[in-house]
Amino acid sequence: MSSSRETQLTYAGSMLDRLSEQRGDTALVESLRANARNFVLAGESFVLAKRGEGFDAGLTNDEAASTGDALETALLGKDGKSRGHFAHAISPSRIDGIKARGDFIVVDLRSIALQGLVPPEDMSALATSKALLFWHERHRFCSNCGKPTRPAQAGWRRDCAACGGQHFPRTDPCVIMLAVRGEHCLLARQTRFPPGMWSALAGFVEPGESIEEAVRREALEEAGIPAGRVAYFASQPWPFPMSIMIGCFVEAKTEKLKIDEVELEAARWVTKDECSLLLTGKHPARFFAPPPLAIAHHLIKGFVERCAEVFD
Ligand SMILES: [Zn+2]
Repeated sequence: MSSSRETQLTYAGSMLDRLSEQRGDTALVESLRANARNFVLAGESFVLAKRGEGFDAGLTNDEAASTGDALETALLGKDGKSRGHFAHAISPSRIDGIKARGDFIVVDLRSIALQGLVPPEDMSALATSKALLFWHERHRFCSNCGKPTRPAQAGWRRDCAACGGQHFPRTDPCVIMLAVRGEHCLLARQTRFPPGMWSALAGFVEPGESIEEAVRREALEEAGIPAGRVAYFASQPWPFPMSIMIGCFVEAKTEKLKIDEVELEAARWVTKDECSLLLTGKHPARFFAPPPLAIAHHLIKGFVERCAEVFD
């Protein structure tokens, strides 16, 4: 896997030292709060500070404090200038009041990415904040004994005092795969997609499955394709709500499709040239591929560039 491919993917490519071995050092964590950048999440949306013509996702301590009390806080890490970066969850009930002020905007993460509202190097911190704070919100009670849990390790663990259980943040592995057969690849539409958008197949990895097995199972279940070789492409954190997308190519052993109509609205084989039109927004039927912020875009682009050589 090349580093250039990694840095192309939105939400990946963290610029921070995550300090994973030092989260229990409360003196260090406190010292990092002094001149911190703070990523403030209210419900599904982030609070961005207006800075001249642009926006900054890293609020100062004073700015963050003015948005309301933090319900949860986690240390994301420190940057090259040794500034601490923190994630904070505030109540969604604060959103209207914050919006009414002139110094902030409140905007969801997809829109931040699509509109390029903040520098790319902050996207990983935003993604980490969203996934981690979502996990906190849903793990307030111990899954072992049902009693309340408390955050520990600078927001990277929750402990249960009643049973001694320790709970760690999770990320859900999801395979996203482009089925390839010779000069064609398989694109599909889920009913929830915007009209005209075509993408790769995808599904969650189940317990006890390897990535390759999950890829072959999904290809068979969703499109009826017996699958051969699987080639890893790249992965992307996908904080909607807390997944990692594992991008693969999969070799289709047949062209004949049998579509799972619950999962998919349609699926069809597409040539390399048509894929190019989908990627560039020049398709005559106004069909289009997912935008560059999604790994599916890069999978389709990889197929256009290499066709069946993706398995070499
Ligand atoms: Zn417990």
